[in-house]
Amino acid sequence: MQRIENDDIQIVAVCLAALVPKLFHYAVPQGAALAPGQFVLVPFGKKKLPGVIWEAPRPWQENDPPKDKLKFIEQIYDLPPLSEENRQFVDWVSSYVMSPQGAVLKLLLSVPDALSPEKPVMGWQVSDKRPPRLTEARRRVFATLLPGMAMRTKTLTEAASVSAATLASLEKEGALIKAEMPPELMEETLFDVPDPAHSRVQFSDEQAEAVRQLTDKIDTRGFQCHLLDGVTGSGKTEVFFEVIAAALTNGKSAIVLLPEIALTEQLLARFVERFGCRPALWHSGLTPSERRRTWRAVAEGKVKVMVAARSGLFLPWQNLGVIVVDEEHDPGFKQEEGVIYNARDMAVVRGRLADATVILSSATPSLESYVNARDERYHLVKLPSRHGAAGMPDLSMIDMRLDPPARGQWLSPAMVSAMQDALDLGQQTLLFLNRRGYAPLTLCRNCGHRYACSDCDAWLVEHRRKNLMACHQCGSVRNVPDTCEECGEADCLTACGPGVERVLEEVGHVFPDKKAAVLSSDMVGQSGELQSQLNLIQSGEIDIIIGTQIIAKGHHFPALGFAGVVDADLGLGNGDLRAAERTYQTLLQVSGRAGRESAKGTAMLQSYMPDHPVLQALIAGERDIFLEREAEMRAQSSMPPFGRLAGLVLSGPDLAALNQFSRDLAALIPASEPALGEVRVLGPAPAPIARIRNRYRMRFLVKAGKQAKIQRFIAHWLAKAKIPSQIRVAIDIDPYSFF
Ligand code: ADP
Ligand code: ZN
Repeated sequence: MQRIENDDIQIVAVCLAALVPKLFHYAVPQGAALAPGQFVLVPFGKKKLPGVIWEAPRPWQENDPPKDKLKFIEQIYDLPPLSEENRQFVDWVSSYVMSPQGAVLKLLLSVPDALSPEKPVMGWQVSDKRPPRLTEARRRVFATLLPGMAMRTKTLTEAASVSAATLASLEKEGALIKAEMPPELMEETLFDVPDPAHSRVQFSDEQAEAVRQLTDKIDTRGFQCHLLDGVTGSGKTEVFFEVIAAALTNGKSAIVLLPEIALTEQLLARFVERFGCRPALWHSGLTPSERRRTWRAVAEGKVKVMVAARSGLFLPWQNLGVIVVDEEHDPGFKQEEGVIYNARDMAVVRGRLADATVILSSATPSLESYVNARDERYHLVKLPSRHGAAGMPDLSMIDMRLDPPARGQWLSPAMVSAMQDALDLGQQTLLFLNRRGYAPLTLCRNCGHRYACSDCDAWLVEHRRKNLMACHQCGSVRNVPDTCEECGEADCLTACGPGVERVLEEVGHVFPDKKAAVLSSDMVGQSGELQSQLNLIQSGEIDIIIGTQIIAKGHHFPALGFAGVVDADLGLGNGDLRAAERTYQTLLQVSGRAGRESAKGTAMLQSYMPDHPVLQALIAGERDIFLEREAEMRAQSSMPPFGRLAGLVLSGPDLAALNQFSRDLAALIPASEPALGEVRVLGPAPAPIARIRNRYRMRFLVKAGKQAKIQRFIAHWLAKAKIPSQIRVAIDIDPYSFF
């Protein structure tokens, strides 16, 4: 690039979409029309990186880098600038989660290819000339491709069922022309404009009142965060659809965040019913070209409604009117790698910056949101009853000490007989066990050797259907050995404990003439396997559904009459902060699956500790009493949401070096400073999973008062440390996982 001499330059601060610690300064010619928010390409070392102009251009000053060291901006992209609101969002998230602005901008600029316009796509059009000779195939072409239309080769050959050669020969004779596809024609299919009036339901009084409250601020443009707290099947989805319709009518966009991509298909179908077209989608399953086009359409303000995984929050939105966080309690909103953030919380932040309406929706709100609503920081909207005739299922407990299953089995006689009753009525039944695979532990009957991952501190989980053993930490797999790897004995491996595959095996023995299927997160992303199983369930071809965590979320099983929890105690053992809350939520979600359409359902929990307060509260149906009690316990120990936590996870390949660095870091813990509030550091301690992918792990836990400046404290602390290059320090503000 040409150098510009003398004083004719200005300086701009650019936020690079990269893991760099700060903003960088670049030169632009005096008088260049540049404004904050513009997307640019800049040289950085030997590379070129995309970024965004963060501050308005200004004259060069003495303390700027010397002029001959400054580099010029290479390219300015032809896109609407990133709005101030988006830039504030990046800044806010960056300082809250303690990741550099560039790392957060990189989330938002996740598709750098989308900065350049799409290469023109060629399509077919008819000319005025008709070919002299019309075969059947050619006739079909002209019946499909009418004057004024443009179609891509693939679309046209499929629609007219002709070969590409037919089109080529017509082109040769001048009857068809190949020309650039007009952009309107291409976007139509992806970014239709939803029709708010396409198909409305008749709301009950309760629902209509909820809609009224939730749409209160849609046209006045004020921030409001609502907790939409309604039992499963109460019509929360119908209600927030109506709020989205109101936003559309007011010329605003809306986004619905879901904790899991497997849920998008179901919501999509309902969306089409309600609005007459598909919403835009955003999740990890999109093809690169879908990502590119969707990103660009958002940047250009063309997307009206999007259904998205958590990362959809980090798109260059304009004019957001509504943000829905569906199943807001779900830990799936927490991003645990890279920039560690909770999309539920960041949605509220984004909503505030956008003056938008935020709706946190759940049948089992998180304690955070419950307390926020109770204390009137959020506005509470309740839907206490199921839509239509269906009541909530009858929930009861099976005391496994009194009514144990036969040896080597997992279903108690009471559970089996309840399943039988439901099946006799022609209903579907569901069994929930949050354990993937066949068995959580495999050992050698001869020598007692336990099979563990070589790279992690984790047992290998047998997946019998695939004949593999898998590590659920690092994902590595190996074949199930014929002889014990330790003692060499043959045929001596034995499975300990149940996973869903093992329950499937048992169900096969107990109900040999019924059709059973497993649903687990192993299926997510496997070319529609999960979806095809869900379709079989919908069409009634499966009698017994056995599933992990994945079935606790949102899926709608209309014919389900019975839900059984194989091991209600499973989540209670791991003593982390949210164990009780999570167990309560999951079990309530699972039992809420039963009896949704007209018949009342039944749900049962198998437990060896039926007196546990969490299970007792569930059986008594006293959700709010449970939440109040849980809130009180957290308040007494100043735990979130009454105090603040941050996790520091140190990891490295060398245990001795890691231990040394942990001790060094512990020695640097700053003394409490009144200005920062009350802060305490616990640790270092080996993480519960002390090694993952051959990296050893140590943890600190920073515990602070509600008003404490926990980020500033951590920043002061780490500023004093020299982190060895082999060691990584991950900061997790408001941690959800403590492994
Ligand atoms: P939730 O999201 O609270 O679980 P949904 O919105 O999925 O509840 O509603 C449960 C079922 O009841 C859905 O099939 C939905 O279409 C139906 N439904 C809810 N409210 C109405 C209504 N007012 N009129 C007709 N159907 C409704
Ligand atoms: Zn592993």
